[in-house]
Amino acid sequence: MAAPAESLEAAAAVRRFDYDVIVVGAGIMGSCAAHAAASRGARVLLLERFDLLHHLGSSHGESRTIRDAYPKPQYPPMVRLARRLWADAEAESGYRVLTPAPQLSIGPRTNPSLLASIKSSSAEEVDLAQRWGGAFRVPDGDGWVAAVSEHGGGVLNATKAVAMFQALAAKNGAVLRDKTEVVDIRKGPAPEGGVAVATSSGEVFHAAKCVVTVGAWTSKLLRSVAGVELPIQPLHTMVLYWRAKPGHERDLASDSGFPTFSSYGDPHVYGTPSLELPGLIKINYDGGPRCDPDGRDWASGGGDVAGRVARWIEEFMPDHVETAGGPVIRQPCMYSMTPDKDFVIDFLGGEFGKDVVVGAGFSGHGFKMGPAVGRILAEMAIDGNANTAAEAGVELGHFRISRFEGNPMGNAKN
Ligand SMILES: Cc1cc2nc3c(=O)[nH]c(=O)nc-3n(C[C@H](O)[C@H](O)[C@H](O)COP(=O)(O)OP(=O)(O)OC[C@H]3O[C@@H](n4cnc5c(N)ncnc54)[C@H](O)[C@@H]3O)c2cc1C
Repeated sequence: MAAPAESLEAAAAVRRFDYDVIVVGAGIMGSCAAHAAASRGARVLLLERFDLLHHLGSSHGESRTIRDAYPKPQYPPMVRLARRLWADAEAESGYRVLTPAPQLSIGPRTNPSLLASIKSSSAEEVDLAQRWGGAFRVPDGDGWVAAVSEHGGGVLNATKAVAMFQALAAKNGAVLRDKTEVVDIRKGPAPEGGVAVATSSGEVFHAAKCVVTVGAWTSKLLRSVAGVELPIQPLHTMVLYWRAKPGHERDLASDSGFPTFSSYGDPHVYGTPSLELPGLIKINYDGGPRCDPDGRDWASGGGDVAGRVARWIEEFMPDHVETAGGPVIRQPCMYSMTPDKDFVIDFLGGEFGKDVVVGAGFSGHGFKMGPAVGRILAEMAIDGNANTAAEAGVELGHFRISRFEGNPMGNAKN
């Protein structure tokens, strides 16, 4: 059947571009966005500055927690959407990247974030002495609360998950290019418009739309290409693995039902069950010192993070986890913090209008929502709005760039 003249014309206009969508940055967000756009039939180019699956950004390693226990109401709907999309991607690829686990939240009963998280996940208060071989010890008295949500938690294999979405993007026709640093994004020449994306090697690609998912490099790139100041501060963080004390390896193991956990208060410490490295358990501090993503202090960049975590272990898990000699493994990573710890998911605006979409500032808690964020970014680029988000009850108003206007460093509320 012949296509109507106007749609042929529209198709011809689109074909004037090399691609429909260029995605800049191949961490979890860019890889998910590339997959979501390519699945819609868009011609996608995914550009990554370093090697694919490198360890210099935020999406590498063996584990990230997924949980729907959240202090802020905007996130549980996004986690639920992401869960559905994680399952779809596992089914499409045949990979298994999500290992379910209970989620334990502990902390002082006066901590409002803890109480809100417990409520959001319908977690139930538990007696920790009866669970997991007594691995956790909380201070005596009524001042403390420990609650477990049996559903909605789990551990994601991070690097494997990024690889899965890159493989699926390629399978759906996306072109992936690594060792390709984007140095400029311009409005494309009239009359076609769109965007022109230039790389450090002098190549220029034209596309109707561009999605920018460059993690800790967001402020630098958007300042240089658009003069836009986004208050996204990179932090140098550490993934720390600790040895289980002899005889307690099974108590901490994922297949014994050991939970992911979050200990609210100061320091905020979190962990995942012993899974990827038998006999070792990941226990981290949620934070780290400010850093320049292009000039990190690899030797001591984490500050006294290991010391803070060791002191927490000695108070809360002294019988089960060994602190003598410090952590067995340290892996550097980066957070991209916004002042309110909420994401940035928005059109860049200004001269770019809706042609450039930004996904950034995931503030140390974005991985679990990667497939949802990727779907939303792809729909914003292709359709100009994110229908899936609206259907899933995800309120994108929380993630607008305009919330920083007139208050560029924002208010550090959590
Ligand atoms: C230690 C640690 C623990 C975490 N734990 C959890 C957790 O338990 N649960 C959870 O949900 N989240 C967690 N997070 C957060 C989560 O990992 C991040 O929110 C997420 O990985 C951010 O992904 P991204 O794609 O935005 O950034 P990145 O993964 O950094 O990807 C950005 C990519 O853009 C590339 N790039 C940069 N500039 C350019 C350029 N000019 N041209 C081309 N490419 C460019 C970079 O090389 C990089 O590959 C954790 C993070 C860390 C560091």
